Amino acid sequence: MLDAGFFRRWMTVAAAAVDREADRLTELDSAIGDADHGTNMRRGFAAVTAVLEKEATDTPGAVLTLSGRQLISTVGGASGPLYGTLLRRTGKALGDAAEVTPQQLAEALRTGVAAVAQLGGAKAGDKTMLDALEPAARALDESFAAAREAAEQGALATVPMLARKGRASYLGERSVGHQDPGATSSALLIAALEEVAR
Ligand code: ADP
Ligand code: MG
Repeated sequence: MLDAGFFRRWMTVAAAAVDREADRLTELDSAIGDADHGTNMRRGFAAVTAVLEKEATDTPGAVLTLSGRQLISTVGGASGPLYGTLLRRTGKALGDAAEVTPQQLAEALRTGVAAVAQLGGAKAGDKTMLDALEPAARALDESFAAAREAAEQGALATVPMLARKGRASYLGERSVGHQDPGATSSALLIAALEEVAR
């Protein structure tokens, strides 16, 4: 069973990974965007860890909804509202249970991913974070390790894709041959989840 402490650790480990990889995320975003993805993610997740230290959260749902709200209010780029929605809607789907099963998390995550798709109007294959998140949320039914693997493969699979959403889509054919920054950060978040579950 996964309790609020597990979810707080997930957010903390994710923040550390984002901080460590921020330069790489920004570099990817400089190729097909505006070179701010690492900065956006670092600022957002630093704010998430800060609010989790300050405010008490006693359920998995509360941890994720608070984190999502914090991302929305601190990240200006497209990724703030999108990741904020992911966490808020996943948290809302978990309800007010004190503990949840990995299976319940997988189902809730799929609800969150669907909300991201709805908000951004993107679908799998459009070269966005969804290309890592969708396969990961499906594979989570199997195991945390399978979800991590699916997210990492999903991020790699964005390289040959033509971007159809977000800033990268302005580049048209020139977006081909670069890994999507958001799919890359999504793989980091899922890897953090697997690390905490280990
Ligand atoms: P911005 O594009 O505003 O500079 P970021 O650089 O922080 O924001 O985030 C860019 C990432 O956001 C992209 O790499 C992509 O994965 C994701 N993204 C952008 N637009 C969408 C969308 N409509 N749907 C899903 N993901 C999107
Ligand atoms: Mg950007």
